[in-house]
Amino acid sequence: MNTADVLAITAEDLAITRLGERGVDTPLGELLGGREDTVHYVTETDRVLLDDTLGVAVRREPGRALPAFNPGGPRAKLYFEPTGVTAAIVTCGGLCPGLNNVVRGLVLQLANAYGVKSILGFRNGFLGLAQDSEPLVLTPDNVRDIHKRGGTILGTSRGDQDPAVMIDTLRRHEVHMLFVVGGDGTLRGAQKLADEALARGIDLAVVGIPKTIDNDIPWIDQSFGFQTAFARAAESIAAAHTEAGSTLGGVGLVKLMGRHSGFIAAYATLANHDVDFTLIPEVPFSAEGLLACLHARVQRQGHAVVVVAEGAGQDLLPPSAETDASGNARLGDIGALLRQRITGHFARTGTPLSLRYVDPGYAIRSVPANAFDAVYCTRLAQAAVHAGMAGFTSMVVARWHGRFIHLPIALATASRNQVDPHGDLWLSVLEATGQPRQF
Ligand code: ATP
Ligand code: MG
Repeated sequence: MNTADVLAITAEDLAITRLGERGVDTPLGELLGGREDTVHYVTETDRVLLDDTLGVAVRREPGRALPAFNPGGPRAKLYFEPTGVTAAIVTCGGLCPGLNNVVRGLVLQLANAYGVKSILGFRNGFLGLAQDSEPLVLTPDNVRDIHKRGGTILGTSRGDQDPAVMIDTLRRHEVHMLFVVGGDGTLRGAQKLADEALARGIDLAVVGIPKTIDNDIPWIDQSFGFQTAFARAAESIAAAHTEAGSTLGGVGLVKLMGRHSGFIAAYATLANHDVDFTLIPEVPFSAEGLLACLHARVQRQGHAVVVVAEGAGQDLLPPSAETDASGNARLGDIGALLRQRITGHFARTGTPLSLRYVDPGYAIRSVPANAFDAVYCTRLAQAAVHAGMAGFTSMVVARWHGRFIHLPIALATASRNQVDPHGDLWLSVLEATGQPRQF
């Protein structure tokens, strides 16, 4: 986030909606051994500051409250009586490493830490809620091994659904607390569900766990699954580099995820430190400029590796009117275009070329979470359950500057986290690749 984005946020923007006053003693201390001092309860006034640089803080209007997040974590007083609660979980959008870890983490936290007896898993995303298909009954027993697998045991879907119909389904199953795991589209849907419930006077806490393999949801240090994804992407780059280095005129072209944000491409580049050119959506480039630099690099070095995020260079492709079921625009295939342009350029100039094109997208999406992400998913799930029990709604759990926080859905969906072309991450990439700032 750049300074202007941060300065535009006020304390009011960070306020979290609550269903009502909290009067129920938490069973957490009892379940964890009966000693109250084993639990560090969150003090509501202990806010997590939005700004972490003095440079920004001093530019704020004097006398006004500094914007700060409501902290994540256990509350001593709850809104819901845990043993009488029915909780539900739904996963939506594209696959991302860690989805099953989040589902398992929610179930274990609900059942073991709070003693919740009824947990439902709605299948196939919002579609399952709209069609009122029979939900799975989730227990610690039947989620025992799911974190070892990629994908989501609940299934997922795209496509718009009517919030009123989905709320009817939740009412029929007497759900008090809905955990929604999904990306920007899903969170917009979750907001509509929370609004519909509030408008109808229904006591429903809607808590999101933001899922974005591209790391493009704002006000989150890093999204779950992102580290697993770029680690797997780095393996593909290493393979492409080995191939390229072993053949005459070897060029490895690796297409990675990143529809609007080039974080996976940037981090995977830095993990290997053997990429020559990294192309991301945030930094436009000319094909001719890239080809000239690539040609020079191959002549000097004997080989080269190009990493391209799927959303990069879209202005070089004919605009597409196509959308997916959720209305997201279909991207043009920048990988195919670059492959064709590189092949044509090397043929025209009579330069030997051995091009290997790799698109590991589906392989990256479907791997199980690594140990770091597994820990992160567990802790996000725990924070989400604490939030739901306290009666917070229309919010997602997130990690900001190393602390768990509650982030209003409205803020999570209002903008996009992108690589700042003038920031230190992109500078690291330029330093590691040696590519020019502009082609
Ligand atoms: P990703 O794009 O990272 O895979 P996503 O959550 O953004 O994840 P989408 O397919 O865009 O994935 O949306 C998932 C679900 O959310 C779909 O059922 C879709 O209909 C619903 N949805 C998307 N946008 C909205 C919106 N503006 N309002 C209500 N529901 C929405
Ligand atoms: Mg999306």
